[in-house]
Amino acid sequence: MTSIDPAGSKLQAQSSKLPAGTAGYDLIIIGAGPGGYVCAIRAAQLGKKVAIVEKRSDGAKTRLGGTCLNVGCIPSKALLDTSEKFYEAKKHFAEHGIAVTPSIDIAQMLKRKQGVVDTLVGGIAGLMRKHKIEVLSGSGELLAPGKVRVTAADGAKTEHEAQHVVLAMGSVPIELPFLKFDGERIVSSDHAISFPSVPKRLVVVGGGVIGLELGSVWSRLGSQVTVVEALPQLCPFLDGDVAKALQKTLEKQGLQFVFEAKVTGAARQGDEVVLSGTAKDGSALSWTADRVLVAVGRRPCIEAAGLETAGVKLTERKRVQVDGHLRTNLPGVWAIGDLIDGPMLAHKAEEDGVAVAEMIAGQHGHVDYALVPNVVYTEPEVASVGLTEAECQKRNLSVRVGKFPFLANGRARAAAATDGFVKIIADAKTDRVLGAAIVGQRAADLIASIAAHMVYGGSSEDIARTCMAHPTHGEAVKEAALDCLGRVIHA
Ligand code: NAD
Repeated sequence: MTSIDPAGSKLQAQSSKLPAGTAGYDLIIIGAGPGGYVCAIRAAQLGKKVAIVEKRSDGAKTRLGGTCLNVGCIPSKALLDTSEKFYEAKKHFAEHGIAVTPSIDIAQMLKRKQGVVDTLVGGIAGLMRKHKIEVLSGSGELLAPGKVRVTAADGAKTEHEAQHVVLAMGSVPIELPFLKFDGERIVSSDHAISFPSVPKRLVVVGGGVIGLELGSVWSRLGSQVTVVEALPQLCPFLDGDVAKALQKTLEKQGLQFVFEAKVTGAARQGDEVVLSGTAKDGSALSWTADRVLVAVGRRPCIEAAGLETAGVKLTERKRVQVDGHLRTNLPGVWAIGDLIDGPMLAHKAEEDGVAVAEMIAGQHGHVDYALVPNVVYTEPEVASVGLTEAECQKRNLSVRVGKFPFLANGRARAAAATDGFVKIIADAKTDRVLGAAIVGQRAADLIASIAAHMVYGGSSEDIARTCMAHPTHGEAVKEAALDCLGRVIHA
C-alpha cells in the first residue's frame, strides 16, 4: 500500500460519514488492540464521543490492548529479556570476571511476564477513563453502516449507533490443516509464551519473526530448537546478507535451521509429536519434539464481526478492502491495522488509528507505509526500514550501499556485542537514503535515527554530518553513511 494521500482528505472524510442525527456516538471502534485504542484516544482528543468494543476478558475484567499487549509483543519481550539475562549469566559473565551458576525458575519468569502485561493492560483501562471513552464489553458485530451489536459474555445483546465505525479486530495465528493447535504440544505463539517448563526439543515451523523470537527464548533457556523454514532464508523481508548474518549468530547460540523444507504431517505419541516433512529434493524428513510452535503467519479476524453479511468488501487475500483513506466500501465504515493490507505490526496499526481519527475530525491524517520500521527482537536484534537492496534492484534503482561492522565500533567492543553491521542504501544520483538495515545490539532503537532522516528525505551525507556521541553504537550508523560516500573512518 502506498502512503495515504493527505490532499483532499478533509472533503472526502466528511462525505464518507452518515447523515447527522443517526448516531449516539461519533465513533464506535470494534477491537481494542494498539490500532483501536490509539484511534479511540486520538478521536477523544479531537473532541469526539467514542465507544470501543472488546471481547477479550479474564472473566472479571475486560482486557484491553489486543494481541500485542496480552499475548504478543509485550509478553514475548518480557520473556526475551529474562532469557537474555539467563543466557548472559550462563555464557558470558565469566569473561567479565563474574562467577555465578544460574538456574531458571520458569514459574517466576511467567509470573513476572504476566505482571508486566497486567500492569500495562490496567494502564490502557486508565487511559480510556481519562479520555472518557466508553468500553463496551463483548463481541462487536457490524450490522450496517452506523450500527453495531455487542454480545456480552453472558449472551446479552445491545445495539449501538454511531456516525462512524472503525474496524480494528486484528489478526489470529494461521493454523495448518495437518498441524492443528491443541494448546499443549502443538501451539501458536499464544501458548508458546506460557510453556510450564523448558521443552527438551522444540520444533518451530516458520523462520519468521515469531519463530525466531520465541525460538530464541526457549533456546536460551536450554531447549534444543530446530526451525523448519519453507524458503531458502530467514525472514524473507530482509536482504540475504542481513538474514544470513542473523542466521549465523543464532546458529552460534545453538538454534538449528532446516531451509527449503516443508512439514506435511504430525502424529502425537504420548508427550511427543513426530513431524514428517519433505526436503527440497523431495526426500522424506522427520523430527521428534515435545513441543511444536507453528509460526507461519497470521490472518485477519474477519469472520466474527459480521463483515460479509454487512457487505464489507474483502480483497482476494481476504483482507478488508480500503481506499487510500482507509475507508471501506460502506459509508462511515473504516478499517485499520492487521485487517487491511500492509505489514501486520502494532506500530503500523497505531499510525492507521491516528490517521483515521484525524480524517474523521476533518484533519489530514497520514501514514507513510514506505517508512514503517520492522524489528526482530532476537540477540542481536535486526531492524530495517525503507527499501531493501534487492527491492532497489527490482526497481532498477541505481544505489550506493554503505556498510559498517560493529566489530569496529568501540562501544560494541566494550559490550562484547560485535556481531552484525549497519547497512545504508542511498540513491546513487541524489544520495537520498532509500533504505537501511541493522543487525546488532540495540538495532531496534538505532533504526529510529535513520528513519527520522528518511522522513525528511535525508541523504547519507545528512546522516554522515550528524555528530554522534562517542562511544556509542550510533557511531556505526554514521560510519555506514560515510561508507556510502567512500569516506568511512574506522574500517
Ligand atoms: P511471518 O510471516 O513473519 O513468518 C512466517 C514464516 O513461515 C515465513 O518465513 C514463511 O516462509 C514460513 N512458512 C510459511 N508456511 C510454512 C510451512 N508450511 N512450513 C515452513 N515454513 C513456512 O509470520 P509470523 O512469524 O508467524 O508472524 C506473524 C505476524 O506477526 C507477522 O506479520 C509479524 O510481522 C508479526 N509479528 C511481529 C513482531 C515484531 O515486530 N517483532 C513480532 C511477532 C510477530
